[in-house]
Amino acid sequence: MSTLPCTTLSLPHPPNNTSYTTTPTTLFKSLSSSTNLSHLKQLHAQILKSHPDPSHSLLSRLLLSSLPLSPSLHYPLSLFHQLPNPPTHLCNKLLRHLSRCRHPENALFVYEKMRQQGVSLDRFSFPPLLKAVSRVSALAEGVEIHGLACKLGFDSDPFVQTVLVRMYAACGKVMDARLVFDKMPSPDVVAWNIIIDGYCQSGHYDIAFNLFEEMRNSDVKPDEMILSTMLSACGRAGKLSYGKAIHEFIEENDIVVDSHILSALIAMYAGSGSMDLAQKLFEKTSARNFVVATAMVSGYSKVGRVEDARKIFDQIVQKDLVCWSAMISGYAESDQPQEALRLFSEMEVSGLRPEPVTMLSVISACAHLGALDQAIWVHLYVDKNGFGGALSINNALIDMYAKCGSLERARGVFEKMPRRNVISWTTMISAFAMHGDASNALNYFSQMKIANVEPNAVTFVGVLYACSHAGLVEEGRQIFASMVNEFNINPKHKHYGCMVDLYGRANLLREALEVIETMPLAPNVVIWGSLMAACQIHGEIELGEFAAKQVLELEPDHDGALVFLSNIYAKERRWEDAAMVRKTMKNSGISKQRGCSRIELKNEVHEFLMADRSHEQADQIYEKLNEVVSEVKQVGYSPNTCNVLVDIEEEEKKELILWHSEKLALSFGLISSKKDSCIRIVKNLRICQDCHTFMKLASKVYDREIIVRDRTRFHHFKHGYCYCKDYW
Ligand code: ZN
Ligand code: ZN
Repeated sequence: MSTLPCTTLSLPHPPNNTSYTTTPTTLFKSLSSSTNLSHLKQLHAQILKSHPDPSHSLLSRLLLSSLPLSPSLHYPLSLFHQLPNPPTHLCNKLLRHLSRCRHPENALFVYEKMRQQGVSLDRFSFPPLLKAVSRVSALAEGVEIHGLACKLGFDSDPFVQTVLVRMYAACGKVMDARLVFDKMPSPDVVAWNIIIDGYCQSGHYDIAFNLFEEMRNSDVKPDEMILSTMLSACGRAGKLSYGKAIHEFIEENDIVVDSHILSALIAMYAGSGSMDLAQKLFEKTSARNFVVATAMVSGYSKVGRVEDARKIFDQIVQKDLVCWSAMISGYAESDQPQEALRLFSEMEVSGLRPEPVTMLSVISACAHLGALDQAIWVHLYVDKNGFGGALSINNALIDMYAKCGSLERARGVFEKMPRRNVISWTTMISAFAMHGDASNALNYFSQMKIANVEPNAVTFVGVLYACSHAGLVEEGRQIFASMVNEFNINPKHKHYGCMVDLYGRANLLREALEVIETMPLAPNVVIWGSLMAACQIHGEIELGEFAAKQVLELEPDHDGALVFLSNIYAKERRWEDAAMVRKTMKNSGISKQRGCSRIELKNEVHEFLMADRSHEQADQIYEKLNEVVSEVKQVGYSPNTCNVLVDIEEEEKKELILWHSEKLALSFGLISSKKDSCIRIVKNLRICQDCHTFMKLASKVYDREIIVRDRTRFHHFKHGYCYCKDYW
């Protein structure tokens, strides 16, 4: 601990025309009647003029009078600094004010001075001091103060015990909090609430529920505070029936349902998917303030009902940060990233400063949108507003840039980070993997180990993905073995999926099948799908048919498997089988997600659906598309309809495939962007074979770099090639 934060005093000179009486009694009187700080400072200056060495009692008086007048407490603190051997009661008063002010850490300076000058602490010193410590989570100091309280025999005082429980809980040391709590002979409802909340905050809901039962058996009556703590715990732990029982208890005992209880109830019902119950509560309540409305906004957002959330959001007059953040993340998570970003700018205009959590939603919206210009803007905003130091924000920025197609910028953020954790390394490695840069993925993986950061299960997914897409069979095999043997990580579906993919792509189909047959988990759709795709690439019909049937067993309308089977059956003239598949295809066509491509131009994002004519430049776009089609046909393109999943005539299929959303986005990009700029497209589904070929040829004909991000990875098209080497 260093010296006091403000040790020098700038004092105003007393005005010349005012004359102050200097007898101690009148001075004391004027001090007590002082109602603002500048008046008090004038008196102080006057005192110094007539008494260069003011008495102890005069300074103490001045300090006491200044406490309620100085919200920042800078002035009282500087007076305190000049005061030798301050009396305990004065220190306690100052501590009490400090424990409630904006800079509770200054309480520690007071404590330090008390210790240095041998001022004794009494039972009233500890509660405000420990409260301040809790607020700044200063565990080391808290432990020291706890030791002193024991030495002085105050550790059995219930007030001191309660603040000790609070201090340990606030510092995340719930076990230590429990040790103190268990020594309390008869804890009151406040102490119970602190310890129960401590367990909830650290995710130990079962212990929290047991303690709540224990409390009720010990005849302590629950108050509003603890009831809302319990209700939020029920919401987060998914204990709806327990929460309903508490709700009944509240109604039976005529407990006043304040806005905290009400929002906890709403959050609980929303969290367990019973949004209708939450809605009923909300509609019949009279305590409908903005806290409650905000709970409704987050509830609707969480269950994906953003329109309903927005209706309530628009009705709230005084929106706070929690409310804005809930609405923004609602949009970000329900595939409306543009709306999330629009709302964020609105919030900014309203003058509210975002919190890191809001920033994370905005960054994730940007990543989702895949728009590089917006991403650069968000990054600038992050730096300008001082969020750039936070680890989680930087990790999110890496992911955002990677998903917006700029591996370089992702790497730039990573390299500049002062501190990196396993998430930072994993995000960077996955970014390389997603972009098909296997050698850097492996390179960073070894650097990570050199930096003594232990990889986790997600890291291995990234590394194995990189290996499988680059055909690095031996490396992948070794890494998989090291994951199990060296790092004791149990492989999950994703790891096995990568291994099946690794062998499958390398035409080691026997090994791929062996992975599936020996894995201890039940293979899922993705794993059988990988094997099927490998069989398709390598023309292994028999095994492919088997894999496709396994896929359909798990997901009867899986379009890849249906298309694959119908192609085999048609080729082998197995008409009955082919008819069966076609029937399923017809029935499943309805529920399929529509393809959608986005392209960003001059800070605006344009969206295209398949055969979309809603764009204002639709005519020009289709005209350009016709031109592109005839250009690429000259270098060998012919529409590849074998993946089209509709039962229609071949000619119509050709039309449909030419109107795929990414082709429309490309045509628009070619009309509207600068000649040498890179065209970046984001597609919500996997890019189809035909569009992949089309993009390759277009990149050659127009000499343009085209980057398409599809659901799983990036395709960089340049000079007629794709970085994925047609492996995806
Ligand atoms: Zn396509
Ligand atoms: Zn590709």
